[in-house]
Amino acid sequence: TLSDRLTSVLTNLRGKGRLSEADIDATAREIRIALLEADVALPVVRGFIKGVKERAKGSEVSQALNPAQQVVKIVNEELVTILGGETRRLELAKTPPTVIMLAGLQGAGKTTLAGKLAKWLSGQGHTPMLVACDLQRPNAVNQLQVVGERAGVPVFAPEPGNGVGDPVQVSRDSIEEAKRAQHDIVIVDTAGRLGVDEEMMKQAADIRDAVKPDEILFVLDAMIGQDAVTTAEAFRDGVGFSGVVLTKLDGDARGGAALSVREVTGQPIMFASSGEKLEDFDVFHPDRMGNRILGMGDMLTLIEQAEQAFDQEQAEKAAEKLGTGQLTLEDFLEQMQAVRRMGPLQNLLGMLPGAGQMKDQLANFDEKQLDRIQAIIRGMTPAERADPKIINASRRQRIARGSGVTVGDINDLVNRFFEARKMMQRMAGQFGGFGGGGGGS
Ligand code: GDP
Ligand code: MG
Repeated sequence: TLSDRLTSVLTNLRGKGRLSEADIDATAREIRIALLEADVALPVVRGFIKGVKERAKGSEVSQALNPAQQVVKIVNEELVTILGGETRRLELAKTPPTVIMLAGLQGAGKTTLAGKLAKWLSGQGHTPMLVACDLQRPNAVNQLQVVGERAGVPVFAPEPGNGVGDPVQVSRDSIEEAKRAQHDIVIVDTAGRLGVDEEMMKQAADIRDAVKPDEILFVLDAMIGQDAVTTAEAFRDGVGFSGVVLTKLDGDARGGAALSVREVTGQPIMFASSGEKLEDFDVFHPDRMGNRILGMGDMLTLIEQAEQAFDQEQAEKAAEKLGTGQLTLEDFLEQMQAVRRMGPLQNLLGMLPGAGQMKDQLANFDEKQLDRIQAIIRGMTPAERADPKIINASRRQRIARGSGVTVGDINDLVNRFFEARKMMQRMAGQFGGFGGGGGGS
């Protein structure tokens, strides 16, 4: 697996301080293989790797992760971003019924999906109706009726005994019926062929023109592998679609089709189907799919743990220093950054018990003040951060110029810092150690 292979690349990289071009190339090579193994189309792989390399080269060196882990993290973030783009909800019509048309090859899972979607929508208070427009296969109408029964939604189908009906006429009639019976959503199941063919596309396009769908969902079997791109392109050009549904994710396909289709057609993946039962259905989760494509779940967990451990280590170090009065401005900056990574301070404080009484103060709280403090500390040399006592008048002037603040601001910060340190020491004395002794290990 990729994890195994990357682990060997990782061992080679461990201990290096900075990401070199060769390191990035080596990691990118492994990721490229993994993507191809997951059946991502070659041009898509190329574009993706290029983007990742550029980002990796320009990225800040993390203190918590080793270089290879950092590349992996970038790869994963990039993958999830592309897969997710902006996860889109179903487009509902201003005046009902909303029309959802399903298109895709035979066996892709359209009819099954029709039932899943109908059940899911019913659960959200909608009143969907299914429409049988696959009149190609003898058994297709009956299959949809079974599905509809299971989902507990009505099925609109041509009268039996009239020979082969006209799917376009059926689709048109179904809209009238939906209005009459007040179904707010119509799901149109269509016919598919084993391969892409002209006649099938024409029929789908005619149905599209007859019902003017608000959404056309392209249903794609995840097991289809490298053919995903050509199939998706054929449907894009023949019928057009506004979203993608990936099916048969319960199989062993790694799901590279998701990335390919998303990249090539630009349309979002909206739902995922993972079994034959109506319940095996969910909105699409880009992060889960990203994990699946790269097969790096374990490694991502490790990365997360490493980052958390790093934060905790920092916190413990600082707590120890608090007790002994050795707290430096460097520690102060690190702590401030760590806290701010969790979101705006106002939200954070608001979550504390008893914060209700501090509401007014919280409302006046100015994040810009924190920005200013961080800018000042960043404008100091390491020696100054480590031992603020050495910050004399001329140093204060230099820092003020560099950080775009006044000398008064610097005085303020340094004085407050000393006061805080004194107070911490007193507290530590009173309570017998502040984080010292106990913590963590
Ligand atoms: P259609 O020709 O596009 O309408 O495809 P169907 O809905 O008839 O599905 C074809 C076959 O795939 C049926 O046997 C379904 O039970 C099965 N199927 C559909 N979706 C899934 C899925 O997500 N997982 C699995 N394992 N089977 C599925
Ligand atoms: Mg079908």
